[in-house]
Amino acid sequence: MGRLQKILIPFLGLVLAFWFYSARENFKPEMLKGKRVIVTGASTGIGEQMAYHLARMGSHILITARTEAKLRKVVERCLELGAASARFVSGTMEDMAFAEHVVREAETSLGGLDMLILNHVGASYFGYFNGDVEHVRKLLEINFLSYVAMTTSALPMLKESEGSIVVVSSMAGKVGFPFTVPYSATKFALDGFFSSLRQEFTIQSINVSITLCILGFIDTESAVRAAADVLLVAPAPREECALEILKGAALRRRELYYRYGATRLPLLLRDCAAELLDYLVRSRYRLDRLEEA
Ligand code: NDP
Repeated sequence: MGRLQKILIPFLGLVLAFWFYSARENFKPEMLKGKRVIVTGASTGIGEQMAYHLARMGSHILITARTEAKLRKVVERCLELGAASARFVSGTMEDMAFAEHVVREAETSLGGLDMLILNHVGASYFGYFNGDVEHVRKLLEINFLSYVAMTTSALPMLKESEGSIVVVSSMAGKVGFPFTVPYSATKFALDGFFSSLRQEFTIQSINVSITLCILGFIDTESAVRAAADVLLVAPAPREECALEILKGAALRRRELYYRYGATRLPLLLRDCAAELLDYLVRSRYRLDRLEEA
């Protein structure tokens, strides 16, 4: 027993010391004060909530989506909440020229860029894969290629500011999910592109962080409309989700998991018990409801 104590106590001391000295920096809202930020897909949902949080923190905000009337209202609210400045550009991310135009707008109106938040997502269906290849191509353009186009255009400004890229993805971009096959494919593509790009940034000593956000089910209107009847899990609040994304981005985290218990923990099974994870994913659905829909 005495011998065990002699080993255990110093070992615990070492673990505690390591934990204490490696404790990460804490988030402070001032980190985003005055920062120039683009948020895509900000007319509604998580993007809209990110715009409001950024406004309260005093950032300069440029938002984009297709629906001008909604964007106008979000900008008004951002100004009421204390944004250093807020403006919008409306258009579709099916068009790569528009994606690049948004970045140029940041250059002209904000004089540079500190954070690029890629969050928009094109509409898809919830159900068995229907074989529509054209839909997969279109979704790849909106959910993936426009992210690549915006990143490419924004990179000179982000290198200059030593800024950040934030990529909003999903559990469906880390593990196979049924009923969202085209959507999942676009999210897996984001992981491949941005995780590889991060490697190159490290090799080239480019100080631009890339935060990949792995989200579970969130209570946005579109997600609840599509999946609430079929999913057995309760959605997490979009306001909290938006804040967690911004914290992860400000702290230049590599990946952000929200909610942690519903995303990071199940993913630990991926390499050692993939079939069990697949089973757990399938067991979250009420298949009878899907067939009725
Ligand atoms: P919403 O459907 O609420 O919002 C999507 C946004 O994208 C809107 O602002 C929409 O505006 C915009 N958008 C849609 N199509 C286009 C287009 N062709 N061109 C430009 N903008 C477009 O999405 P959420 O807030 O639910 O999701 C945000 C992100 O979080 C997405 O990347 C999603 O994949 C991810 N996520 C969400 C989950 C959830 O449960 N909610 C779960 C996991 C990940 P408009 O229609 O005006 O263009």
